[in-house]
Amino acid sequence: MYDKMAEPYKIKMVERIRLIPKEEREKKIKEVGYNVFGLKAEDVYIDLLTDSGTGAMSDNQWAGIMLGDESYAGSRNFYNLQDTVRGIIGYNYFIPTHQGRGAENVLFPILIKKGQYVLGNMHFDTTKAHIELKGGRAVNLITEDAFDTEKEHPFKGNFDIEKLESFIKEKGAENCAFILITVTCNSAGGQPVSMENIKEVRKIADKYGLKVFFDAARFAENAYFIKRREEGYKDKSIREIVKEMFSYGEGLTMSAKKDGIVNIGGMIAIKNDEELYNLVRQSLVPIEGFPTYGGLAGRDMEALSRGLREVVDESYLSSRIGQVEYLGKKLDEAGIPIQKPVGGHAVFVDAKKMLPHIPYYQFPAQALCVELYKEAGVRGVEIGSFLLGRDPDTGEQLESPLELLRLTIPRRVYTYNHMDVIAEALKNIYKRKDQLKGYEFTYEPKVLRHFTARLKPVE
Ligand SMILES: *Cc1c(COP(=O)(O)O)cnc(C)c1O
Repeated sequence: MYDKMAEPYKIKMVERIRLIPKEEREKKIKEVGYNVFGLKAEDVYIDLLTDSGTGAMSDNQWAGIMLGDESYAGSRNFYNLQDTVRGIIGYNYFIPTHQGRGAENVLFPILIKKGQYVLGNMHFDTTKAHIELKGGRAVNLITEDAFDTEKEHPFKGNFDIEKLESFIKEKGAENCAFILITVTCNSAGGQPVSMENIKEVRKIADKYGLKVFFDAARFAENAYFIKRREEGYKDKSIREIVKEMFSYGEGLTMSAKKDGIVNIGGMIAIKNDEELYNLVRQSLVPIEGFPTYGGLAGRDMEALSRGLREVVDESYLSSRIGQVEYLGKKLDEAGIPIQKPVGGHAVFVDAKKMLPHIPYYQFPAQALCVELYKEAGVRGVEIGSFLLGRDPDTGEQLESPLELLRLTIPRRVYTYNHMDVIAEALKNIYKRKDQLKGYEFTYEPKVLRHFTARLKPVE
């Protein structure tokens, strides 16, 4: 109706946030070695570190928390959640886990034989890690268009179907464990996968006798993009699209901390393979817990059941994705280079384009990240060479193809006014971008260094 619709909810409870003075921000970021992971959350004004587990639950979900049935076995909340999963996803079997990686940890050893490949559009980092821990090899077969930030492609999360088929032919289907479709494709910037592409993946899988699974953390956001961008889906409901998407797979793992709109939770769901279901239930017990709780409290399962029913509401999705698009549009209008089109859960600022004077080994996106905190207390996160790390053999710093600052928007947490502040802050930085300096290490841990490393500005 209008250009910018108001949020489809009103606010019943608020949490105070505060912008500490500029001198304090400068002091705090210096103290933590110019690494935003070291900051205390209370020193952050607007927190865009992640959309994982950071969403706001509804009154209905909080009411569900009070109805937690904490029985060790057979909690009613398990049965409610199972009914919800059957109703929305359309799979018969449901197994709760404490979060997405818990689901990966249980399911993957059953599916992967040592040395086998898992074929993905682009694997999420914990997913890749779990595949490799089980002796598998994670391969990314995403469309090349995903790497061109300026190219306006409606489904940059798509598989390159030709690459997929020739990979299977080259390595042999017996050396492939399964195909994993990540919706939306987190590592490619929350970019969606089209229904057509999912169907083509299914055809290839059938041709070579492979199974298809989904990494379904942002399934509802993916369905919304299909409705908006793909021919033939305009008049279908989100629920219909979700059901159709999942109908092309054998099962899924899900981090419920995203589209489940809960602070903790995950699951495995299986369409109708009873044997696989039984194997999963057996493995679940020593790792996550008894099959009717799987690492979750009864109250968590109830909140998740309600969250899943809320997330497939089109007015919610339109507001959610509209807000991310609004921030993207503001930055784009100001000439700030961003990945286009913006994805479902984040806006990515292209720091390589914005700060061409800072080389990759001085981490341009990290420089922008630090500057944004100093400017307005906003915490984003670097996705570039700082995150990528060194070549394990030579010890050389690797050059990431993209140097991005990710501004991840939590669900139902911030308003359009917060988006305006973020955009204004970046516009101010843009005016003085040529003065920004790169960073170098004062402390560099050997593994997953970006979480705890310390830096200083290059003189
Ligand atoms: C977050 C995420 C995971 C891992 O889930 P956790 O709940 O963080 O353990 C796996 N895959 C994708 C695509 C994700 O976004």
